[in-house]
Amino acid sequence: MSALKLEKVCKSFGPVKVLHDIDLTVEDGEFVVFVGPSGCGKSTLLRVIAGLEDATSGSVEIVGRDVTTTPPSKRGIAMVFQSYALYPHLTVRGNMELGLKQAKMAKAEIAERVTEASRMLSLDDYLDRRPAELSGGQRQRVAIGRAITREPDLFLFDEPLSNLDAALRMNTRIEIANLHRTIDSAMVYVTHDQIEAMTLADRIVVLRDGRVEQVGSPMDIYNDPDNQFVASFIGSPA
Ligand code: ADP
Ligand code: MG
Repeated sequence: MSALKLEKVCKSFGPVKVLHDIDLTVEDGEFVVFVGPSGCGKSTLLRVIAGLEDATSGSVEIVGRDVTTTPPSKRGIAMVFQSYALYPHLTVRGNMELGLKQAKMAKAEIAERVTEASRMLSLDDYLDRRPAELSGGQRQRVAIGRAITREPDLFLFDEPLSNLDAALRMNTRIEIANLHRTIDSAMVYVTHDQIEAMTLADRIVVLRDGRVEQVGSPMDIYNDPDNQFVASFIGSPA
């Protein structure tokens, strides 16, 4: 069964159409990266998948369930944002626990999931700190850890490395790649950075002005771009 299936997804803000008939299937365990210039609709598409925006038309299916009108908390997704979106008054542990508590999960299960996620991201020593007492990289690891504790069917990342400096960007990118290898969950990842796309993706979706320009493996797209736009954005120099 596919992790995600989009059919003819359109999104308009008032009179302005920003997504045009997006068709896409993400397979179980697949890492798919949306790449394209700023303003092309990457975040909007991710937010439509998450349910933070409603599609104007078209449908969204997650592991075989039509979630087009389902609220975000019931879609089986977890999202990691560029801005981390942590609660400043809660500790690391509190941030990781909150969603699970709201879902009325048993205490023992919550504790187990938090322990597991902290171990995966080396956050064990920071569980009692608040976000203000952490570096940017640590905060983003907490946000990723929080996503892991939800055990989602689908992880969504919106430019998670953009607020980090170059060294941390590389480290965190490697952690995300390792995470994907470890838990083998489907992931959809948005970036405007071609290197991130090339190194993380099983498949890349190149977006331009709210339309899919090309979908393919990093090597396909690099070696065999469909058009000049894709070539100039991500293709080989030749
Ligand atoms: P990207 O993430 O690729 O940079 P976005 O999805 O954020 O692009 O934006 C795509 C287009 O939709 C842009 O032109 C942006 O101005 C517009 N847009 C995004 N969100 C809104 C909104 N809430 N209201 C109106 N226009 C929006
Ligand atoms: Mg964006």
